[in-house]
Amino acid sequence: MGTTVKLNTGAQIPILGLGTWKSPPGKVAEAVKAAIAAGYRHIDGAYIYQNEAEVGEGVNAMINEGVVKREDVFIVSKLWCTFHEKSLVRQACEKTLGDLKLDYLDLYLVHWPMGFKSGGELFPLDSNGEAISDNTHFLETWEAMEELVDAGLVKAIGISNFNKEQIEAILNKPGLKYKPTNNQIECHPYLTQEKLINYCHSQGITVTAYSPLGSPDRPWAKPDDPSLLEDPSIKAIADKHKKTPAQVLIRFHIQRNVIVIPKSITPQRIQENFQVFDFELTAEEMKTIMGFNRNWRACPMHWGVKHKDYPFNTEF
Ligand code: NDP
Repeated sequence: MGTTVKLNTGAQIPILGLGTWKSPPGKVAEAVKAAIAAGYRHIDGAYIYQNEAEVGEGVNAMINEGVVKREDVFIVSKLWCTFHEKSLVRQACEKTLGDLKLDYLDLYLVHWPMGFKSGGELFPLDSNGEAISDNTHFLETWEAMEELVDAGLVKAIGISNFNKEQIEAILNKPGLKYKPTNNQIECHPYLTQEKLINYCHSQGITVTAYSPLGSPDRPWAKPDDPSLLEDPSIKAIADKHKKTPAQVLIRFHIQRNVIVIPKSITPQRIQENFQVFDFELTAEEMKTIMGFNRNWRACPMHWGVKHKDYPFNTEF
């Protein structure tokens, strides 16, 4: 069993979880079962991944088999951008819970600070291919998120892909009831996020690193894009520890007290990715890896660049 990070609610979140974006519905239940069998106690999902029923199937199978109890697993989901209107937040959360066949989430995140036009497609685009805004502001959405905690549907609430200014806006909101407990952001050696992580930690907000392996299966990957898993410098560090590049990439976050959620549907890799609690990168190696930063994003959400709340136009 790996270690945990304490949330500002007092709850503990396992520092290593299983990612489920792009995990096909026909494969993800088995992946979740393999992960729980391997020792994972944290599953990262989202409505937009369109596989929550199958993620829930995997979790519930392991609960029914007596391998874990509900309270032993930390389940995360995310509010999609087309449900930012205050009146839509609760039903979006209830839909996720219904699909998962669970009574509550351990953590529910606002997936992006940007609201998209509701009522139709999940990615409403205009004729230029730009995401159509719903003209909401995430501060209103946050109030509806707070109500989910009071209703007992979720134990904690957080954000994802929020920049410093956007986090500050929430923290300074008049009448704020619950601070975000977590900001889930892209992070890996090519996007080390030093400033944003330091800021979040200074505010008592935990950070989760997504796409820790560089998301090689992202649909928009191009042949010339950088590849973390094939980076010879990462490979050299891995060889020194008799570990794999993936294990080094995962361990990197754990030593920064950053939660990390590698995705895999391959049982052998799911196990491999969990074998990261039996070695330590030296301070020198951590420094070397931090030096690989090139501010490269696997997930720039390019349909949103013109949205008023696009998060990646500022320094951090
Ligand atoms: P990852 O960086 O986790 O990479 C996943 C890819 O790496 C898959 O192709 C997987 O293959 C492969 N892989 C996994 N383990 C190994 C290994 N040991 N050796 C070699 N290859 C391996 O990408 P994601 O973008 O999926 O990020 C992880 C999770 O973060 C997501 O699944 C999602 O839960 C979350 N996320 C959140 C976002 C947000 O906006 N909040 C955005 C993006 C991700 P295979 O599955 O075939 O084994």
